[in-house]
Amino acid sequence: MIRLLSTDFDGTLVDHFATPPVTPELFELFGRLQHAGVRWAVNTGRDLAFALDGLREFHFPVEPDYILTNEREIFHRDPAGQWRDYGDWNRRCVLAHDRLFQTEAPYLEEFLRYVRTETEAELIYENERPVGLCAKDDGEMDRVVARLRSTRKPGSQFNFQRNTVFLRFCHSDYSKGAALGELCRLTRVTPAETFAAGDHHNDLSMLDGRFARWPAAPGNAIDEVKAVVEKAGGYVARARCSEGVVEALRYFMEVRRLGPEGAAAKVG
Ligand SMILES: [Mg+2]
Repeated sequence: MIRLLSTDFDGTLVDHFATPPVTPELFELFGRLQHAGVRWAVNTGRDLAFALDGLREFHFPVEPDYILTNEREIFHRDPAGQWRDYGDWNRRCVLAHDRLFQTEAPYLEEFLRYVRTETEAELIYENERPVGLCAKDDGEMDRVVARLRSTRKPGSQFNFQRNTVFLRFCHSDYSKGAALGELCRLTRVTPAETFAAGDHHNDLSMLDGRFARWPAAPGNAIDEVKAVVEKAGGYVARARCSEGVVEALRYFMEVRRLGPEGAAAKVG
C-alpha cells in the first residue's frame, strides 16, 4: 500500500505553460490521500523559501507534509507549524559539501576556467561559493555535462544535478533519491510503500526503483526519465504534468490496488 508520495514540483506538478497550471483533480486526489493517512513530500530543486512561494503562487489548497529542497535537504513542520530541519541530515549534508568543496577546490577551479572561457554559461554563486551554472541552451548543457564526466577523477565524490539548463554541483552521496531514502528511514516507510514522480535528469535518482517501488513520469518527461521509470516497473503517463501524476496514481490505486483504505474505492 502506498503511504508516501514524493513529487517533483516544476514540470511534474506544475505546468508553466497550461491554464490552469495544476489540475484541480490533483488537489482533490492529494487531499483525499492525505485524509486517508498518506504523507506527501515535495522533492524539488527549489530552496525552501522558493518552494513555499511556488505552493502559494499556484494556489495549492493542500499542504505537503515534507519539503525536500535543493535536491538534497529535508524539512518538516515543528508542532508550531514552522518548517524545520528533519533530523540531522541537513547538518551532515552541509558538512559533506563543505569538505567536498575543500578537497575538490583544484578540480573545481580548473572546471570553472573551462566554463568561463569555453562556454556562454553563467556561473551561480551562493555566499561566494560557486554552486552551479545556467547554460545557454540544452546543447551547451550536454557539452558541460560531458566535460564534467570526462574530467573528474575516477571515484571522485564530485557530482552534479542537472535540471533543464540548470546544473548544481553536489556530493555524490546527496540527491533527491538519497534524501527520499532518509525521509523513509525517519518516517519508517519502506520503498514498497513509496510513490515518486518526476520529469527531468535531477529526478532520476528517485525514479530508478531503489527508494520508491512505484515511480512515475508525466507525459512531458524527458526520454531518459521515461526509460528509467519503465525499467523500474513504474508508470509513464500519457497526460502532462499534474494530469499525468493523477493518471499514474489512479493506475497504481485502481489497477495495482495500492491505494490506502478509504481512498481507493472513491477513485475515478
Ligand atoms: Mg521538474
